[in-house]
Amino acid sequence: MRIAMIGTGYVGLVSGACFADFGHRVACVDKDISKIDGLNAGVMPIWEPGLEALVKSNAQRGRLTFTTDVAAGVEKAEAVFIAVGTPARRGDGHADLTFVFEAVRELARFIKPGTVVVTKSTVPVGTGDRIEAILKEEGVEGVSVASNPEFLREGAAIADFKHPDRIVVGAEDDHAQEVLRDIYRPLFLNRAPILITGRRTAELTKYAANAFLAVKISFINEIADLCEAVDADVQDVARGIGLDNRIGPKFLHAGPGYGGSCFPKDTIALLQTAELAGVEQRIVGTTVAVNDDRKAKMVERVERALGGELAGKRVAILGLAFKPNTDDMREAPSIPIVRGLIERGAEVAAFDPVARHQAEQLLSGVDFADDAYAAAEGADAIVIVTEWDEFRALDLERIAALLRGKTLIDLRNVYDRSEAEEAGLTYYGIGRGRFKKA
Ligand code: NAD
Repeated sequence: MRIAMIGTGYVGLVSGACFADFGHRVACVDKDISKIDGLNAGVMPIWEPGLEALVKSNAQRGRLTFTTDVAAGVEKAEAVFIAVGTPARRGDGHADLTFVFEAVRELARFIKPGTVVVTKSTVPVGTGDRIEAILKEEGVEGVSVASNPEFLREGAAIADFKHPDRIVVGAEDDHAQEVLRDIYRPLFLNRAPILITGRRTAELTKYAANAFLAVKISFINEIADLCEAVDADVQDVARGIGLDNRIGPKFLHAGPGYGGSCFPKDTIALLQTAELAGVEQRIVGTTVAVNDDRKAKMVERVERALGGELAGKRVAILGLAFKPNTDDMREAPSIPIVRGLIERGAEVAAFDPVARHQAEQLLSGVDFADDAYAAAEGADAIVIVTEWDEFRALDLERIAALLRGKTLIDLRNVYDRSEAEEAGLTYYGIGRGRFKKA
C-alpha cells in the first residue's frame, strides 16, 4: 500500500519506518526542513534503539522516503496518517490541535477520493468529527476519517510497533476498516489482536490507557511513601501484588514520579475532556496532583539526605532523559529536580548517556559530565534519576572514592542497600526505609 505519514517525530518516524519494513511504500512528510534534510542524509533526528538501521535499510530499498512536500506524499497515498504533536495548550492543558488541523488543511488540497485519513496522534474524543468537518469545508469528498491511536513506548518503540499488545482502529465505515486491516496484515501473523471500534471510542481508549498507567505509577509511589513511614520495602510489596494476574507486575516501580511526552499532557487533556462533558474524573485528577507534588518533593529528599542544607553542596545527577533508551527530555523528572537543587543553592553536575544535547537547551547552570564517574568527582551525593542500564553496574567502590560525601540517593531503586553499604556508601532508595518522616 502507499502511505503518507504527516509528522516525522518519535511516532511518525518509527511508524513510517515499520510500515515500510512491512513492505508498504511510505512517504514521511515533515515541515521541519532540517529534519527532512538530515533524514535524507541518513542522520536520525531522535535517538531510538534500532531506528537508524531500520530507516536506512528501507530507504535504500526505496520504500521509505522523506519530504517536506505534502503534495508528493499525499497525492498517491491510499492512507494518510497524521502523527503531528498534540502538546498541552498553554494555560488550560487542553490538547492543542493546531498542528493536527493545520496538517488536515494542507493535505485536503491534494487528497484523492477513496483515501483514508488516520489520526495516529493522541487526540481528544470528537477530533475525528472535527477533521471530517474541516475536510468538508475544504471541499473534499469521498474520504474516510479513522482513528488509530499509537501505544508504542519510546526506548522500545520498534519492538512495540512490531509486536503490539493490540491495534486499536476506530472507523465508521467498512472501507476505512479494510484499508487499516490491510496495512496491519503483516502483524496478524504474530496474532496481534486488532480491536475495531467506533472512532470516538478509539480516541478515548488511548487516553484511558495512559491515564490508567499513570494511576498505577502514582499508586505505587504513594505506597512507597507509606513503606518509608512503617519500615516496609516497596520492591517486595510491588512483587507481592504484581504476581497477582489481576494486577500484573508492570508499572509498579516506585520512583520520582512519571514524566515524558505523553502521561502528563494526556492525563490533563482527559480531565479537560471530562470537564467539558460535565463528568467528574476524581481518580485521574488526584493522580495528576500526586505526581506534581512528588516531583517537587524529590529535592527535599536530597536535601534531607544531605543533612537539611543544600547551599554549598555539590550533587551529581545520573540520568536526565525522562526514561532510559531515549533522548526525550519532555516533562522529565530531572528538570524540576535539577532546577530545584540549583534554586536551593546546590551545585549540580550531571551525566546522561544520550540526552545531553537536549538537556543543555533546558537546564542552565549545570556542569555536564562525560560519564558517571566524572559527575561523581567531588560531589556530596550522587542521585540516580533515570535508570539507564549503564547505571545498574557502576563500580560503587570507585564512586565512593570519588565522592566527597558518601551518599547514594537511588530514586529508581536500582541498587540494594547492602551492596551500596559494602562499598562504603550511605544508601537512600524509594520506599525502602531511611526517608522516614520525622
Ligand atoms: P514529535 O514532536 O516528536 O513529532 C511531531 C512532528 O510533527 C514534528 O517533527 C513536527 O515538525 C511535525 N509537524 C507538525 N506539524 C506538521 C505539519 N503540518 N506537517 C508536517 N509535519 C508537521 O511528536 P511525537 O512524540 O512523535 O508525538 C506525536 C503524536 O503521537 C502526539 O499526539 C503524541 O501524543 C502521540 N504519541 C506519542 C508517543 C511517544 O512516545 N512520543 C506515543 C504514543 C502516541
